Amino acid sequence: MSTRIKEPALWLYQKVTSRQRTRLFDRLQSSGRVPVAILFYHRIADAAPNDWTMNCKDFALQLDWLQDNFDVVSLQEAQNRIQSPTNTRPTVAISFDDGYSENTDFAIPELVRRGLTATYFVATDFVRKGTAFPHDIAAGCPLPPNTIEQLRQYVDAGIQIGAHTRTHLDLGSTQDKAAVRAEIEGSRRDLRDWLGIECDYFAFPFGLPPNTSQLAVDLIQELGFRGFCTAYGAWNWPGSEGTHLKRIHADPGLVSLRNWLTLDPRKLEDKRELPFSTANSIPRLPPLPTYACSSLPSAV
Ligand SMILES: [Zn+2]
Repeated sequence: MSTRIKEPALWLYQKVTSRQRTRLFDRLQSSGRVPVAILFYHRIADAAPNDWTMNCKDFALQLDWLQDNFDVVSLQEAQNRIQSPTNTRPTVAISFDDGYSENTDFAIPELVRRGLTATYFVATDFVRKGTAFPHDIAAGCPLPPNTIEQLRQYVDAGIQIGAHTRTHLDLGSTQDKAAVRAEIEGSRRDLRDWLGIECDYFAFPFGLPPNTSQLAVDLIQELGFRGFCTAYGAWNWPGSEGTHLKRIHADPGLVSLRNWLTLDPRKLEDKRELPFSTANSIPRLPPLPTYACSSLPSAV
């Protein structure tokens, strides 16, 4: 279904279910079970649109809506709220993947202007070589990666930098421990050497269950990262172990984002099998019928 057909249907679905969503939020809030959303973007630019690019106006509209309705917090604060036994605040953290140069033009200055932060995951070989990402070359549109100088500016502006491998390797595709270590540890070392920072967080390239592995998770934990992000498209429930940080794809636009973050009833439970284990990593889902009430901010 094309986005142009899908958006009105999704908007209508959200409206039809808005009372149900409001009641659900009220119940979650009163029981301290408000889940935390972690968003990920890739590239904010008006030129060369594609499925992993959002235009500047839409990005600003998303930030407007997020700031009106949520605490927009750092990844660390989001993790704190996930690991806390209870959370009563609507909470969103923002992240970016890959490292596109054009984010310097609008996205990062716009975040800074609003007093917001984000975690910016970088695949370091592309920065080192100044070469385009394979997925952009395959799409016929080689786009420039960030430079080291740009990343330094981001750090100075309060943006947190995270590791995202060196070559954007699908870490679910190999059981070669030395290769996986070189990707994870190597990208972190690159960023330490260039920026003088220690990355606390790692994001899996592609980030879906088949792109993750026990081998990689064990290495991430051995290396002492505070947590790792996937693109599982799921909420993070308070009281979780909170090392595995599940993210929601924000690129598809505001209608989709609003539908997600106003508690689409279809998206509350993540029933997928994890291809790895971390202590208590599978969140305890809320017993939906038992909640009592308050109200969702003007989100619905
Ligand atoms: Zn990526």
